[in-house]
Amino acid sequence: MKPKVVERLVRYAAIDTQSKEEELRVPSTEKQFTLARLLVEELRELGVREVRLDEEHGYVYATVPATLPPAEAAAVPAVGFIAHLDTSPSVSGTGVRPVVHENYAGGDIALPGDPAQVIRENPVLRSQVGADIVTSDGTTLLGADDKAGIAAIMTAVQYWTTHPAERRGTIRIAFTPDEEVGNGTAFFDVQGFGADFAYTVDGGDIGEISDETFHAQTAVVTFAGRNTHPGYAKGILVNSLYAAGHFLSLFPEGMKPETTEGREGYLHPHDLGGNEELARLKVLLRDFETEGMAAKGALLGEMAAETERRFPGVTVGLEIIDSYRNMKEVLGRHPRVVAMAERAMRQAGVTPFRHAVRGGTDGARLSFMGLPTPNLFAGMQNPHSKLEWVSSRAMELAVATIVNLARLWAENGNAPGPDRV
Ligand SMILES: [Zn+2]
Repeated sequence: MKPKVVERLVRYAAIDTQSKEEELRVPSTEKQFTLARLLVEELRELGVREVRLDEEHGYVYATVPATLPPAEAAAVPAVGFIAHLDTSPSVSGTGVRPVVHENYAGGDIALPGDPAQVIRENPVLRSQVGADIVTSDGTTLLGADDKAGIAAIMTAVQYWTTHPAERRGTIRIAFTPDEEVGNGTAFFDVQGFGADFAYTVDGGDIGEISDETFHAQTAVVTFAGRNTHPGYAKGILVNSLYAAGHFLSLFPEGMKPETTEGREGYLHPHDLGGNEELARLKVLLRDFETEGMAAKGALLGEMAAETERRFPGVTVGLEIIDSYRNMKEVLGRHPRVVAMAERAMRQAGVTPFRHAVRGGTDGARLSFMGLPTPNLFAGMQNPHSKLEWVSSRAMELAVATIVNLARLWAENGNAPGPDRV
């Protein structure tokens, strides 16, 4: 018999919920409502009474009521679990046909819909021998990012509604649109959600907890020269493009996205345009530490000064704008949120590890909106590709982690101390 969580994933993955870049409205695609409505229906069938669909923006909110007596329930935190409805715009999500490779025996996995698509055996895949592996047929992505997260949360809800004797505080559920296009939190109702903190279930490897994201800034560097007719330009023309080119040559080799990894930050020129008169360059600054960010900003300032010295008559302007901040700033003030997740994983037989995300996350944005939200593994591998896969074991461990977390918070949530949450 297939585990329930796999059945759910297969059902949800077949529904096209691909989001779209550069749409002003949320959700960016109407079809995300199809899954949102199905989940509303299924939550009600599971006996969850407080279910709400944001008819305009596609968010689903639900509450699994506490089983603790009211006074005790009020003393422990309301815990949220969040996953996203949409799939990445980078690979087709239309007509997804999930394939369950039962009882994986090792070796490569050839996808039946396209002989060119083969998932090569690797250490992560090999560790899943004996589990069922879910893939697409090779012509689309699978969308386990993040339907594995939705399936895990829904399976946990099913557990809770069929185990009313277990002691639990209030549990809040949310499914959000448009995470893949950066708008997942645009209309998230933090107040109405009513959780003290939450966990997104949108990570990869078994045991992964993301409690950090980059600090992110964008620098706009302008190079102002002096233009005139090139036929009569001798001694007059000051071409800003040469200054921009020189500035680009000053980026340190060891501080680029293509030369850094792990906890290293980077400087990344990503957009350049202009003419003789005026050139404009956008540079992304990324670092996990505030000191690292400050140093990168200072370095750009030195590069600007050096360029002005080298090109008399060119004025280099530098403006640095904040994009988002490392969620560790928030989560660091609530250490128990991550510590309890680690405990829940250990209880499920999983060795937890902390992962610093080299980007931003919806959880980071939510953290700064007042809802501390680290990210937990859902098990997906190779997301945003036709070779995406997820194992039944990883998803079952995600379910166990969620169920354990709810129980642990009910048992330990009102422990005294300044870091209560
Ligand atoms: Zn995701």
